[in-house]
Amino acid sequence: MNKKRSEEIVNILKTIITNPKPELDFKNNFELLCAVSLSAQTTDKRVNEVTPILFQKYPNAKSLSNALIDDVIDIIHSLGFSKNKATNLISMSKSLVEKFDGEVPSNFKDLESLDGVGHKTASVVLALGFNIPALPIDTHLLRMSKRLGYVKFSASVKEAEEALKKYIPKEEWILAHHLFLLFGRYYCKAISPLCEGCKLKEYCKGKGKHWYTSMLFVLVLKREKYPILI
Ligand code: SF4
Repeated sequence: MNKKRSEEIVNILKTIITNPKPELDFKNNFELLCAVSLSAQTTDKRVNEVTPILFQKYPNAKSLSNALIDDVIDIIHSLGFSKNKATNLISMSKSLVEKFDGEVPSNFKDLESLDGVGHKTASVVLALGFNIPALPIDTHLLRMSKRLGYVKFSASVKEAEEALKKYIPKEEWILAHHLFLLFGRYYCKAISPLCEGCKLKEYCKGKGKHWYTSMLFVLVLKREKYPILI
């Protein structure tokens, strides 16, 4: 990879993803922080179905910090891992009230000190909530950074973040996050990517390799179902 090649990739992505914006619904940074925390292991669409009910009942950190865990679990149970997520939301809200006067902090150190808030969640909040350059790496960005040759296929999340930040100008990090994420979600999917007619084919290191990913996925599924056979 080099900066010129990366610029070409980003420019092509801009022509494919013409409306690069977040798909999680939120009205303020508290809602954003909660929505991102809830989005682990589920889809933005599902999160958007429960957050209006959650925020109507608990509109800020103070009210959510006093919530009963069973009430929160009831509201978010369709998202999976509801006990953990509810526990984290309540405890994160308590920390917000106790340490930050109920406000969402605007730096990595303070955000990552909150329960259930890791580097990716903190990056999303900084980028989308405060417009501070950050490049959150989710499953789609990790896959895209590999298929498009920013990092090796064995690279970690940290390595992918470092590589993307190295080759993409800082002022484009937030935009690039949306472009890579939406391209990965709707075009370059983990299983059965839409390679036919893909504008990034000549940059792609993943062509012909996703059969391998697909096989692994099928084997994992089969192993869960028929543990004795495989
Ligand atoms: S050719 Fe296929 S695997 Fe490569 S970037 Fe395009 S959609 Fe993704």
